[in-house]
Amino acid sequence: MTDRPPTVLISGGGIGGLAAALALRQRGIRVRVFERAAELRDGGAGLHIWTNGTIALQRLGVLDEVLDTAPVQHTTHFGTWRGDLFGAWPVGDFIDRYGCPTIAVERSVLHRVLTAALSKYSADAEIRTGAAVVGFQQDADGVTVELSDGDRVRGDVLIGADGINGAVRTGLLGTHPPRYTGYIAWRGKAQLRHADIPPGTFYALFGPGTRFTFYDVAPGVVHWMSVANGEPGGRDDGDVRDMLARRHSGWMPPVAEILAATAPEDIIRGDVLDRAPDRRWGTGRVTLLGDAAHPITFNIGQGACQALEDALVLSEELDGTDPVAALRRYERLRRARTAGMQRVAWRIGRLGAVEHPLLIRLRELGMRMVWPRLVFRIAERDQIAYATRWSSPKQSSSAAEDAAGQHLSDRRSMR
Ligand SMILES: Cc1cc2nc3c(=O)[nH]c(=O)nc-3n(C[C@H](O)[C@H](O)[C@H](O)COP(=O)(O)OP(=O)(O)OC[C@H]3O[C@@H](n4cnc5c(N)ncnc54)[C@H](O)[C@@H]3O)c2cc1C
Repeated sequence: MTDRPPTVLISGGGIGGLAAALALRQRGIRVRVFERAAELRDGGAGLHIWTNGTIALQRLGVLDEVLDTAPVQHTTHFGTWRGDLFGAWPVGDFIDRYGCPTIAVERSVLHRVLTAALSKYSADAEIRTGAAVVGFQQDADGVTVELSDGDRVRGDVLIGADGINGAVRTGLLGTHPPRYTGYIAWRGKAQLRHADIPPGTFYALFGPGTRFTFYDVAPGVVHWMSVANGEPGGRDDGDVRDMLARRHSGWMPPVAEILAATAPEDIIRGDVLDRAPDRRWGTGRVTLLGDAAHPITFNIGQGACQALEDALVLSEELDGTDPVAALRRYERLRRARTAGMQRVAWRIGRLGAVEHPLLIRLRELGMRMVWPRLVFRIAERDQIAYATRWSSPKQSSSAAEDAAGQHLSDRRSMR
């Protein structure tokens, strides 16, 4: 096991599993991905990929393809439902500082680009769909996964990238249900061109126990999310879009227009779940990655970004020497990086869930004072700057540079 690169088995073909497969394959490591769903897809809504995530995409060699459709973000706005601003974060400036933009992207685009990049290695990067991992056993020489169709596959290492309730995670750590945050997210996509949504727009608006976020994910396509407190496991009876329109009635424009331009059947409802950081992510030849290891609520938009970073670090550590030691090094590095984000995202979620009018007044006062002066600075230092280990402004891809040029000229024209 010391003189040849390992074959890595990956449970889960989401963004984390595919990114890990690509990063490992690029280092000459054979990968076999098992995806429970009948076909590879991560459809639906959009993602905000911060500059640390785009640096990871650049390192994976796929940033240019993603930038073909994903708008570069200029300014991230945080404010009240009435439209009063707490702070505007000029995230477009990250291009100058770090060489890569912060972007918004449709999940399906990111998924498709990763799949296409992996398909170039078809001989040594097998993806099996309709193949759920239902168990695994390991010994001193390797690990065997059991699939739902009864097949058994042997490899050197197993990565559980199968999400917050993944089978590998359960096999390693037991059945502990995720933690319900107390709020529910409704997500959708509006076909809308609107003067208040120029390219690269992001707004997060806070109301009483409810929030609304929107950003453009492609020309004329706006991704949005409505969040509200409630009991888990609920269902929407009647017209969900009408219900959301009532919830956000009187909110700043163009919230009503965005909802009106969304097809009701495209609205996805989901209880928001996470976990407190785990002390252990693996044992022997098995480890976890992405949401299986460290689910981070959407409140800081870092879940997928961290899965991309995991993929790179894992591929760097699995260098052909002792795989067990390599996995423990990976886990130490990544746990130190992600545990704080799980906690911060949880706390911001609590802040967003506040309902009492007095607490809302305090929240608004606090956010106005703290957000631009402190939160942006800490988030940039702790979340964005880390990824410069893989990049520097001078190494930016041509597309990122083009995007930077476009961004600067757009900013000038907005003044
Ligand atoms: C409302 C919301 C908004 C978000 N917004 C952002 C954002 O703006 N930016 C950001 O960075 N992150 C965001 N996130 C987080 C992000 O979506 C996740 O962190 C990311 O999708 C995790 O990817 P993953 O591959 O680890 O897991 P998943 O996406 O859960 O993929 C797991 C895959 O494993 C498969 N699978 C499951 N069980 C098995 C099995 N037994 N065998 C084989 N395959 C299996 C599943 O079918 C799936 O394909 C958001 C999350 C939510 C809920």
